[in-house]
Amino acid sequence: MASLALGLVGLVLVLALGFVLWRRTSRLEAEHQRAQAAYACLREAIDEMPAAIELYDAQDRLVICNQRMEQLYPDSARTAGVGLRYEELLRRAQQQGMLIDAPVGQEEEWIALRLAGRGRSNAPQLRRLPGGGWAHLYEARTTSGCIVAVRVDVTESVHQRQVLSAARAEAHSAHVRLREAIDAMPAGVAIYDEADRLVMYNREAVDMPPYGVGGELIGQTYEALLRRSLAQGDIAEALGREDEWLRQRLAARGLLKVPVLRRSKDGRWMHYYETRAPSGNLIMVRLDVTDLVEKSLELERANELLSRLSTTDSLTGLANRRQFDQSLQTEWLRSARNQQPISLLMIDVDFFKRYNDHYGHLTGDACLRQIAGILFDCAQRSGEVVARYGGEEFAMLLPGADVEAARVVAQRCMDELSKAAIPHANSPVAPWLTISIGVATAVADQNLLPESLVACADAALYRTKGSGRARFEVVST
Ligand code: GH3
Ligand code: MG
Ligand code: MG
Repeated sequence: MASLALGLVGLVLVLALGFVLWRRTSRLEAEHQRAQAAYACLREAIDEMPAAIELYDAQDRLVICNQRMEQLYPDSARTAGVGLRYEELLRRAQQQGMLIDAPVGQEEEWIALRLAGRGRSNAPQLRRLPGGGWAHLYEARTTSGCIVAVRVDVTESVHQRQVLSAARAEAHSAHVRLREAIDAMPAGVAIYDEADRLVMYNREAVDMPPYGVGGELIGQTYEALLRRSLAQGDIAEALGREDEWLRQRLAARGLLKVPVLRRSKDGRWMHYYETRAPSGNLIMVRLDVTDLVEKSLELERANELLSRLSTTDSLTGLANRRQFDQSLQTEWLRSARNQQPISLLMIDVDFFKRYNDHYGHLTGDACLRQIAGILFDCAQRSGEVVARYGGEEFAMLLPGADVEAARVVAQRCMDELSKAAIPHANSPVAPWLTISIGVATAVADQNLLPESLVACADAALYRTKGSGRARFEVVST
């Protein structure tokens, strides 16, 4: 009986133990299934990730790697590398010639550096992708010593950055080119934007207002710069009327279609151009034309001198024969047109050959100059011409003068010469130098040549000479 009871207890115990073991096994199985389901879920999740993910254990052996990793590195067969150490994976890639980030010939150094820095930097590292793309690699070491490597495809943004920096480099070199070009110009150049703010100016411009005022000029308006220059008295032509000058200058802004010639403070001549570009920018150019202007002024002066020489008698400074002939022609026609009288005095120095013989030719020249001065002063009305007709003969053309007026002038000539009392020791008529004058007056006739007036005056002069000299005779036609 007792043994039966013992047997029953034993059976119960065995059943109880069996039940406990069964319960435990089935719990472990359920946990294992849950863990497997969780792993599958995690696996799916990381496969779905848009980034390539790898997980390495504390011994740096590849534990897991997702599909995206295979997509980014299609030939790397990374999944097949699960269980291999990272260094072994690198060596395999090296043998396959897929160590694309390592410079050719420096693969060993690159691997050594790569392993030394493994999981040590939080900053993303830029890595090449096979096929020309780019990825950012984030490597982090977990607290348990595992390494998580995440790669994100950044090809698009790297390309955008490359395009942007190429555009920036191009813009920079275009700016440098423009800068060099305008600095090389032998003209002052300044560029203003649509709001009339200074954008750029070259070296040549520095010494001209308003660019020599000092301080930062870029970004300032043309008006602000001009005001500073005016305050410093740099604009010579505006001195004393600064406000009015500024108003006029700004009103004409951008309207200088043709260059304006201005003289700078230091006396140089400048041509100013203002051109509005299609972009709205205003381009100002200042060209130094001092040489050109001075040459043209020189030319003008030379021309003036030439024309004076061609119409002036070099000994006496009076009009020469050429000029006299021209004036006679003009005045003769005017007289004919207006029916106004015109008179001519032909004046000859008496016994001048003797004068030369006695005093010498040079004194003779000086004497002719003195007589010329006296006769010139005797002609008082505008339009009257006193000329050296030739040798010791002078002609005086008196437009508008009738016989009486001509007579008055002839008498004045005689009187003024007497007053001068030029000694002529060898003259048979007086101890002084004398003149004879033939006077002719006419109202011009278009059918007659002006030389007819000269012929009349000559005839009168001839008569004077014949009747003793030192007097005048008048012929009126
Ligand atoms: P007449 O009273 O008849 O006019 O006598 P004349 O001696 O003045 O006239 P003639 O025609 O015989 O001589 C003119 C002189 O004038 C001769 C010449 O030497 C002189 N003569 C002409 N031109 C010049 C000149 O440029 N300088 C000098 N010193 N003498 C001149
Ligand atoms: Mg003569
Ligand atoms: Mg004479």
